[in-house]
Amino acid sequence: MKVFKFGGASVKDSAGVRNLAEIIKTQGQDVLLVVSAMGKTTNALEDLVLAYAHGQAETMRAVLGTITDFHYQISADLLGDSSSVHETFAHLELLLSQVPGASFDEVYDQIVSLGEVLSTQIIAAYLQKNNIPTQWLDARQLVCTDITFREGRVNWAETSLRINQKVTGRGVKITQGFVGQASGNRTTTLGRDGSDYSAAIFAYCLNAESVTIWKDVPGVLNADPRWFDETILLEKLTYQDAIELAYYGATVIHPKTIKPLQNKGIPLYVRSFLQPNAPGTVIGNFEQHLSTPSFIFKINQVLISLRPNDFSFIAEDNLSRIFGRFAQAGVKINLMQNTAISFSVVVDNNPDRVPALLAQLKQDFRVSYNDGLELITIRYYDQGTIDRVLVNKKLLLEQKSRYTVQLVVKDLG
Ligand code: ADP
Ligand code: ASP
Ligand code: MG
Repeated sequence: MKVFKFGGASVKDSAGVRNLAEIIKTQGQDVLLVVSAMGKTTNALEDLVLAYAHGQAETMRAVLGTITDFHYQISADLLGDSSSVHETFAHLELLLSQVPGASFDEVYDQIVSLGEVLSTQIIAAYLQKNNIPTQWLDARQLVCTDITFREGRVNWAETSLRINQKVTGRGVKITQGFVGQASGNRTTTLGRDGSDYSAAIFAYCLNAESVTIWKDVPGVLNADPRWFDETILLEKLTYQDAIELAYYGATVIHPKTIKPLQNKGIPLYVRSFLQPNAPGTVIGNFEQHLSTPSFIFKINQVLISLRPNDFSFIAEDNLSRIFGRFAQAGVKINLMQNTAISFSVVVDNNPDRVPALLAQLKQDFRVSYNDGLELITIRYYDQGTIDRVLVNKKLLLEQKSRYTVQLVVKDLG
């Protein structure tokens, strides 16, 4: 069996779903489809949860109206009516009519996970209508996680057991990316952009022949085409290089996706749903690492420097306190560097999390910060490449390892 993952961009409208069906007809008779919410539905559902949690009835109605119209329209276009999603919207409306009965993060997972439920219901019905017998599977009954809402950690033994019990026989099957369940039937999600990871979970548990993630780009490129004009398609990539690129922020693959596949030697194809016959990128066990530099570009970064208030050095006791604070605030460190008396980190400037973290840190440290920065990571760098990316930028911090350089810069343009 093969696993195909279709992201939100690939099913953002009815034309996208028709295209998906064509790809299945030509490329996938024995396939498990792992599908994301349509277009930007997850963002809209996040807005809905916020309005619900804050009791903003008017906003809630407006956002729900937009989400409902969007899905009804696609369903009507593809299937002639909206019956494929009636039940899910009735369930959502019932949920929203009650006072929130759980923590914000749990309510978030109950509601936001429905984006994937809706998309797979419409697509399953459309494939059926087009004479592609399709079995719809509920990922909440297959992917078992712990109780960490919004970032569920997979219980591999239980997940594998369930997937192997329920995903049997040949033919087309469809399930939701991003979604899982903790014990007590409590819905969880795997973290934003987690559908790639879902595809890897299913492939690992099923010993799949391969995974293909269908994207709006020709494959993995040596830079994000949104930022760089002249990108090169990387036809072959080692698991190690793919992990490193994803880890440093190449958003084309979710970083958790690669390891499970590497452990079983399952190849990962990244291909274009716009050019389904082009080979794209294959990630696997290859000898040769990349020969050209790859770039990862993150904007809106903040450089935070900490100095102890007392006479202490930056040592283990300070570091463990610092890391504890970052973990508690849910702020991921993109780069860190320390000297005897100062510790610097670069993080995404998330307005929901960073100010609270800074306030906490100020209790124990002298804190300075510099925002509006860019973090440029180059894998397989050379000096010429570094010089080129630094044109018109002020370099604030540089960190080099054997294969990777990270540059924290301020744009002077
Ligand atoms: P999905 O619809 O599957 O969630 P994403 O939007 O998450 O798709 O991923 C595809 C996007 O990743 C591309 O449109 C591209 O802008 C971005 N991207 C970032 N880094 C790279 C890279 N190195 N190669 C290709 N695409 C990249
Ligand atoms: N729909 C989820 C999100 O937008 C998961 C995914 O698409 O990968 O974050
Ligand atoms: Mg994505």
